[in-house]
Amino acid sequence: MIVKQLTVPIQIRKLEALLNRFPIHDERRERIFSDYQKAYSGYIGEKAMQYPLSYLDPERYLIFHDIRLKAGEHFFQIDILILSTKFILISEVKNITGRLFLDHEHKQLIRTIDDKEESFTYPIDQLTLQQIQLKKWLHQHSFPLLPIEGLVVFTNESSILTSSKPHEKIIKKSSFIHKMLDLEKRFNQVPDYSENINTLSDTILQNHTPQNKSLLQKYQISKDELITGIQCPNCQQFAMKRSYKYFNCSQCRSSSKSAYLKALEEYVLLFDSLLTNKQGREFLEIKSPDLMQRILREISAERFGVNKSTSYRICLEALGKLKKESLE
Ligand SMILES: [Zn+2]
Repeated sequence: MIVKQLTVPIQIRKLEALLNRFPIHDERRERIFSDYQKAYSGYIGEKAMQYPLSYLDPERYLIFHDIRLKAGEHFFQIDILILSTKFILISEVKNITGRLFLDHEHKQLIRTIDDKEESFTYPIDQLTLQQIQLKKWLHQHSFPLLPIEGLVVFTNESSILTSSKPHEKIIKKSSFIHKMLDLEKRFNQVPDYSENINTLSDTILQNHTPQNKSLLQKYQISKDELITGIQCPNCQQFAMKRSYKYFNCSQCRSSSKSAYLKALEEYVLLFDSLLTNKQGREFLEIKSPDLMQRILREISAERFGVNKSTSYRICLEALGKLKKESLE
């Protein structure tokens, strides 16, 4: 059973919002775009795992996508965590194209594309660290220590994978189910954990803490460097102004009732879920406080405080729903 579904990671949504609102010619864009590509490709890799995972018996396996837990001082992130009544499996998913060579002696993963070599973090070290952290976490929450197995799964079908010596923890996606059958056999004799598995599953979910780092801080970008205004869904210019019930684009003349929803969503992704009427007006480039007030009412933003210090909480899920409804 899938306990925690795979969804587009918030980090990817934040990067998309930033790229959308960051000046096109700024040289910092390259790094942001490269981080976005890496994150997106990781997500596609996990998506590709949904098919082999669908072969697992839902009665016997609990599957969690993108779990982030804290053990001691440090957070650790697991791409796919599989819980059975006999063992736990951590899968680190790698969606990398090109010719890949795993040098176990020097602990490196080297990718070659068009004679250009690039080095990646040695995935076995990553996996071992996750295993140690998860063990610590189980101990911290007073769960018995189930055997923790780990796999690095390469998901890109066009990549060619070779290594300095065979390694049982390194597989391609197509071998995943066979590997699971091997693990089932191997742990057949260990004590059954079914009594506690639901408590463990609930505790994992309750303690999951999504990464919530501010991208502006990460890339040293100040608020006034970002493009403000409401973007036209037709020509992508930030040129929409409200007249009567609609927002009209001053560039291509198209109109929209709901173009402001995306702008508010981007505000939350880039700054905060709390905003004042003034902050909203500045970001959306709206002059009228009354109009801003109506917009905040339309999205049912929760209100805090009084008079000038009044702020509103915007819920990303609620915005998402309204955006979907506006397209129907
Ligand atoms: Zn337009």
